[in-house]
Amino acid sequence: MNNTNQNGRPTGRHSNAAQKSANHKPKPQAGAQKSASKTRGAALRAQKRNSEDAQRVMKQYATADTKSTKQRANTLANTNNALKVTFLGGLDDVGEKNMTILEWQDEAIVLDCGNNLGVDLPGVNYEINDPSYLVSIKHKLKGYVITHGHLDHIGGLRHIVPLCPAPIFASRFSNGLIERSFQDAQESGLDFAPTLITVDIDNHMSHQAGVFGIEFIRVTHSLPDAAAICITTPVGKVIATGDFRLDPEPLDHLPTDKNRLKQIGDEGVLLLLSESSYADAEGRTPTESTLQQSFYDVIDNATGRIFVAVFSSNMNRTQMIINAAAAAGRKIALDGRSMLGFAEIAVRQGILKVPKGMLIPMAEAANVPDDQLLVMCTGGQGEPRAALQRMSEGEHKYIKLRAGDTVVISSSPIPGNEIRYDAISNNLSKMGVRLFRHPTHELDGCGPLHVSGHARRDELREMIAMTKPQFFVPVHGGALRRRYHADLAIQAGISRKHTALPDNGGSLLITTDAMHSADPVPHGSLLVDQNGQVVSNVVIRDRLLLSEEGIVSVVLTVDKKTGQLLASPDVISRGFIHMQENYELMTAFRNELRRAVKQRFTRVDLDRFKQEVREHITHFLYEHTGRSPIVIPVVNIVSGK
Ligand SMILES: [Zn+2]
Repeated sequence: MNNTNQNGRPTGRHSNAAQKSANHKPKPQAGAQKSASKTRGAALRAQKRNSEDAQRVMKQYATADTKSTKQRANTLANTNNALKVTFLGGLDDVGEKNMTILEWQDEAIVLDCGNNLGVDLPGVNYEINDPSYLVSIKHKLKGYVITHGHLDHIGGLRHIVPLCPAPIFASRFSNGLIERSFQDAQESGLDFAPTLITVDIDNHMSHQAGVFGIEFIRVTHSLPDAAAICITTPVGKVIATGDFRLDPEPLDHLPTDKNRLKQIGDEGVLLLLSESSYADAEGRTPTESTLQQSFYDVIDNATGRIFVAVFSSNMNRTQMIINAAAAAGRKIALDGRSMLGFAEIAVRQGILKVPKGMLIPMAEAANVPDDQLLVMCTGGQGEPRAALQRMSEGEHKYIKLRAGDTVVISSSPIPGNEIRYDAISNNLSKMGVRLFRHPTHELDGCGPLHVSGHARRDELREMIAMTKPQFFVPVHGGALRRRYHADLAIQAGISRKHTALPDNGGSLLITTDAMHSADPVPHGSLLVDQNGQVVSNVVIRDRLLLSEEGIVSVVLTVDKKTGQLLASPDVISRGFIHMQENYELMTAFRNELRRAVKQRFTRVDLDRFKQEVREHITHFLYEHTGRSPIVIPVVNIVSGK
């Protein structure tokens, strides 16, 4: 997957509150007692329902149930001659938190350790795998092996490696990215330095991590130095493809090393773990070389400023745009932190080549004549806060878009981002800019502007044919695409019982001639906030409840002796109703509080009193507004008056 922020899912998951009327007039007070107990029940039911809604949403992000770790440990005794392959994450969706554990007796390695940016929860940046199971076997751990540097493959490392330390084996570009992510974490207080081992992905050398031999094999994807991994185990070779495609003509002239894959296939492959992101798309992903001419044409023909939105990690794409800009005599400014971060590592490693004097800082873009400027930026998926989004809303620090500008969006919407992609395109259109987008490139009058980094069905078939695995497990892409991929393997001659479709948390036990499912291990999610800190699921559940109905806090100052309120109740409400617009209701509410406090205070103990007041308030507010906010009574008791 591309590590673009995918928080582009349609919002409005919790729309109950929005459907309710905004202004609430108090209902007549009469006929109270009988209907009171009815509404009390309804109020409590409404609260329960909200709570259940929040629980249901949070269930998909639940942490691992650590209890079952112990059960699992007991049943491990009979697996001594089997390779255990456990999928903590990566099977549920495209761009999900990839992480697979391979265990042989007292040794283990972790294959990829990603995060998932596609989480739509208040204040949550991404989710990572709950590492409870890994922690329970951490004495076995010999290394982390990383296929490539997209965040859904490396974004969990900074959180999980400090808990279960072991060396990280990765290609040079991947390690550049991993190093930077640990530096970011160290700047926000992490006291841990990882051991990084850089593996050459072209020399076919094997590195040893305990009993496991590890060889990296170059594949084409959508960022530099992506690799498939061949892991030699005591029962045979396992190939994990990582994300890949079989582009014969990538811009960097570094195609997938098919010869090596075939060689290993001829020697015998026990298990193939192959990605399934496009297992529902027939044919082959078009070669990247089809794009270069499009960029030459668009950039050559433009007369004003040019803005190109790209995935910031895609260095071949970045190189194409730099080539075309250089040919047109334009300066280039890079906008967005991730854009600069990736380019900096790629230039340092000699992957990205920029003619001298061509790059300028964003702050100087305004000083360059319109027909000599090209800005590369993030935000082609309409991600909130990304550079192109800010430009499209007129909020960018240095750039105000205007008629005469050309904007190129070098991507298609990732599933789930369609609405944002459309919205940003509309906004840009309103600004009068000339727009070129990949999905409408023919209408826009140019050649293709994007190809995916993932293999389609013919390439998936070819991967199976080259490696000729005895057992096959499709990974990534969700249950349906994995099933399509498994069917494809069966058509290619692998018997159905030699394929498996586990779910996240699922384990397989593999010997030289058999593959069995084992009990699932504890698995789940940890949620990480904008500061990079793990935030409790309970906190997020409360935020969901708050976002549904709001909160009302009532401060009561009570005379200890008489039980009378000594001051008018202080009512604080957020996200519930606008108090000034509901003056009558608030007056009735305060009167009711006075009455309720006087009636109850001297009768019951303080805890019971608080509980009863909370229920009474919940019931009163529900009866008069049809809403059930979180209610927090604060009781101050004053004596000696
Ligand atoms: Zn990827």
